Amino acid sequence: MKRREILKGGVAGGVAAAAATVAAPAIAQERIEIAMVSTWPRDFPGLGTGAQRFAKRISDMSDGRIQVEYFAGGERVKAFDSFDEVASGNAQMYHAADYYWKGKHPGWAYFTSVPFGLTYTEMNAWIRFGGGQELWDELAADFGLKNMMCGSTGVQMGGWFRKEINSADDFKGLKMRIPGLGGDVMAKLGASPVSLPGSQIYENLVSGSIDATEWVGPWNDSFMKFYEAAKYYYYPGMHEPGSMLAAGANKKFWDSLSKSDQYLIEAAAAMENDVMMSEYNAKNGEALAKLITDQGVELREFNDDVYDSFGEAADEVFDEVQSHDELAKRIHESFAKSREQVGSWAKISDQAYVAQRNRVLGL
Ligand code: CA
Repeated sequence: MKRREILKGGVAGGVAAAAATVAAPAIAQERIEIAMVSTWPRDFPGLGTGAQRFAKRISDMSDGRIQVEYFAGGERVKAFDSFDEVASGNAQMYHAADYYWKGKHPGWAYFTSVPFGLTYTEMNAWIRFGGGQELWDELAADFGLKNMMCGSTGVQMGGWFRKEINSADDFKGLKMRIPGLGGDVMAKLGASPVSLPGSQIYENLVSGSIDATEWVGPWNDSFMKFYEAAKYYYYPGMHEPGSMLAAGANKKFWDSLSKSDQYLIEAAAAMENDVMMSEYNAKNGEALAKLITDQGVELREFNDDVYDSFGEAADEVFDEVQSHDELAKRIHESFAKSREQVGSWAKISDQAYVAQRNRVLGL
């Protein structure tokens, strides 16, 4: 059955009736219904609750004139079918991590996070002022979509392992859940990366179908109980240093909206981009302490040799991405230019300051 969710003109009669006694608005605003699918389990803290908050905010900001019906992963379509559901016009919007679509074009990975990529603040700088949004628009338009920033997890952890990782050789033969280009880096090191939606990771880790997994960070990971099957918790994750979540809209639907409705949805998304990051930053530290003290989790840092191997493998992956097509090359070059400019500033601002503050305070 082909679903059509856009209902128009629902309030026109009310406006006409009111016009007899008060001045009618210059343009009668239309009632709009949006079906929003997502890749997250319902009520999953941060990712799921953030997406649901975004959906509700659109309704609230429009006093109910824009009604958003939200579907968690699997409720309307499977998590990873969200892209096709919206690109086809069956649903109007999705909330997802766009790197899930890297099989459709590797450029999508850059609009979530890539190995040796950008932190939250750096990502915002690239998307808003470094040409990122324009390239994202170009890529999305090729698939009939219009996308915008809508949340971030911040720097992610390296993942959960059953054994210690002391050198790149320890990745050989490892079956690991790690999506995006980070998975391709792991493959270069001899691992077998798999991409699973959040709802399927735990069972695969416990059953031994996978040996290791990354997910997000301490707050999110603590709900997944990965520590029951893998005690070693590594940081920092090279693969997702500031994973940006995306709101994607069917482009025909988007273009049919009034400018003010587009601004309303963009404002709701920009707010979620900020609020979600705030929540992760507020909750990760406490969750990590609990994982260590209550669950006996062993916190480990990837050593420099391992990180150097990640870097060499990432270079190979980026070469392959750029050879995909001309757009992939332009996306990579724009990203790399921003990384250099913003990264060199971060080095003597955020990074230098936090290092000194934490040294003095003994943090
Ligand atoms: Ca992740």
